[in-house]
Amino acid sequence: MSKEIQKQMDELYEQLKYHSHLYYDLDSPQLEDYEYDRMLHHLMDLEEQHPQYRRADSPTVRVGGHAENTFAPVVHAVPLGSLQDVFEEEALVDFDCKVRETVADPEYTVEPKIDGLSVALEYRDGVFVQGATRGDGVTGEDVSENLRTIRAVPLTLPDKLPRLIVRGEVYMPVESFLRVIKEQEDAGEKTFKNPRNAAAGSLRQKNAAVAAKRGLDLFIFNVQLVEGKEFSSHSQSLDYLKTQGFHVVPSYKVVQNGQQAVEEVQNIGKRRNDYPFNIDGAVVKVNNFTQREELGTTAKYPKWAVAFKYPPEEKETILRDVVVQVGRTGVLTPTAVFDPVELAGTTVSRATMHNQDFIDQKGISIGDTIVVRKAGDIIPEVVTVAKHAEGGSVYKLPEFCPRCGAETTRDEDEAALRCPNIDCPAQLLRTLTHFASRDAMDIEGLGEAVVTLLVDAGLVKSPADLYILKAEDIAGLDRMGAKSAENLLAALAKSKDNELSRLLYGLGIRNIGQKAAQQLAAHFGTMEALAAADAEALTQIEGMGGIMAQRVVEFFANQGNRELVTRLKELGLNMEEHVETKGDTFAGMTFVLTGTLPTLKRSQAKEIIEKLGGKVSGSVSAKTNYVVAGEEAGSKLTKAQQLGITIWDEDTLLKMAGEN
Ligand code: NAD
Repeated sequence: MSKEIQKQMDELYEQLKYHSHLYYDLDSPQLEDYEYDRMLHHLMDLEEQHPQYRRADSPTVRVGGHAENTFAPVVHAVPLGSLQDVFEEEALVDFDCKVRETVADPEYTVEPKIDGLSVALEYRDGVFVQGATRGDGVTGEDVSENLRTIRAVPLTLPDKLPRLIVRGEVYMPVESFLRVIKEQEDAGEKTFKNPRNAAAGSLRQKNAAVAAKRGLDLFIFNVQLVEGKEFSSHSQSLDYLKTQGFHVVPSYKVVQNGQQAVEEVQNIGKRRNDYPFNIDGAVVKVNNFTQREELGTTAKYPKWAVAFKYPPEEKETILRDVVVQVGRTGVLTPTAVFDPVELAGTTVSRATMHNQDFIDQKGISIGDTIVVRKAGDIIPEVVTVAKHAEGGSVYKLPEFCPRCGAETTRDEDEAALRCPNIDCPAQLLRTLTHFASRDAMDIEGLGEAVVTLLVDAGLVKSPADLYILKAEDIAGLDRMGAKSAENLLAALAKSKDNELSRLLYGLGIRNIGQKAAQQLAAHFGTMEALAAADAEALTQIEGMGGIMAQRVVEFFANQGNRELVTRLKELGLNMEEHVETKGDTFAGMTFVLTGTLPTLKRSQAKEIIEKLGGKVSGSVSAKTNYVVAGEEAGSKLTKAQQLGITIWDEDTLLKMAGEN
């Protein structure tokens, strides 16, 4: 028996270690948080019953992450601890009882628990000098460069306290998250699982310019260390931080007793879906600092605070149908259709069922009672089966494409089934919808509905056919008339003048998203030059990986594609790039140039920055993001140093701009 317990505990240690690594170090978890928490709490129970088998490196006493070598290590002046978490309201009541055993009439603050990652920001004499991730709580990673790109990080403070360290949570607002995963999907990249991982992955980007574009934000929730000022309570310190320009954790509230704390936790829970960011709980903290000291801490967390984790919203419903969609690249995706349920603020009746492997594993049949949730509170997915329907048989994705009837294939290394027929109308539909979409050729009035009409009527078999459509063809379609035909033809004619980058993106080359298309167009200037480029020439472009280069080469090696491009050219579509801007690498960033640069003239450096969406300003202020300094740089450089602004030399500027 004892051997078995030990074995069970060992297995839990290994599992937790593995999932911790995926979560903290690779920002790519396989488990939902509550699944991980359940495992951790199971181990805690076992450790309590069998302390002789407890390991010194147990995840129940250590904070999970560790500092990677990519960034310089930072030893925290005050460790960044964790919080004890509870899942039931009774546990909150117990917490209050325990606190009252030590201190009388405790006041509490209740705050939403932002689902992001913890950072510490240090200010000396009112100037931001360093920012670090939590890491293992003792040593974190120096991510100052990336933090500087977040607008909510003040670079200077009105009060010049000798030293101030604050702790906060970097997070990705839901809106930014949706944008980022769309960009990743477009580029054929792996997408972030949830906003927390997206925030962590972005903050730990090696390239600050990339981090800057991810739309990260920050809330401060604690003073870690202060010199030259004293606070008697947490709420007083948060109020002070507001006066210094920090974005303090929103809607924190001071309450007078445990009962009110529980009520406020419930209130935050009710508002949970109204916040423009994800929260995974609420934190209750003793407000008075003297009382906090009396209460003390354990090895892992303070005894004066507790995190209440809201249960994940999961709902049971009946699976009524499965619709199979054929994507632009031919992948068949199963979508579950079920009786509508309320989930994280919206009514949901469809959710992804991932792929055949998942369906087999769970044994899902139509008629089953399934459990659905929103992964990371955002994307609906089927979790499992709660109850199998009697006599049901496990759903099988069709062996033949539901649109064109071609036999589906399965790539060896993929879970996905694919329709291999490039003329498949489903693929054609997606191809054309993508071609006409706003970020691509931006053809007004040519949405999925109209494309479907055109495809079903057999009028269009490729993007080129769009440009030979006649008014009478369009006007004759269901719910279309002379006016809509005229408008569509005008929109099509207008799209002929689009820049090459739009056309390239519209052609839907696998792994080539909008940004890559812009880079390719800017670099090669004409379709002809791009078509002639080999993989080596393509990988010269910053950010263009081997796979992307290969896809471009493959695209132009295909005769059908070459013919399409030739036809489009003959039909009068523009095949050149004239746009001045090369991308948005420096979008939203302000630069100041100072001194003599080794090779670039001031005007050339300015042009490079502006082409990438950056602004060049004449004077250094707290709003400056970067100062590019050359020889004999004077007062501007000194001021930048005082303000803690990042200084680049010409080399760094060229590297960041992707110039050779
Ligand atoms: P925690 O998330 O339970 O709580 C502590 C953290 O809360 C702090 O570090 C702080 O960053 C944050 N926080 C946000 N708002 C706050 C506020 N207002 N006041 C105070 N703190 C606030 O603890 P943890 O040790 O950071 O991480 C454990 C979490 O990581 C658990 O949720 C666990 O599920 C998850 N995890 C998941 C996996 C997985 O595989 N899914 C693996 C490892 C860990």
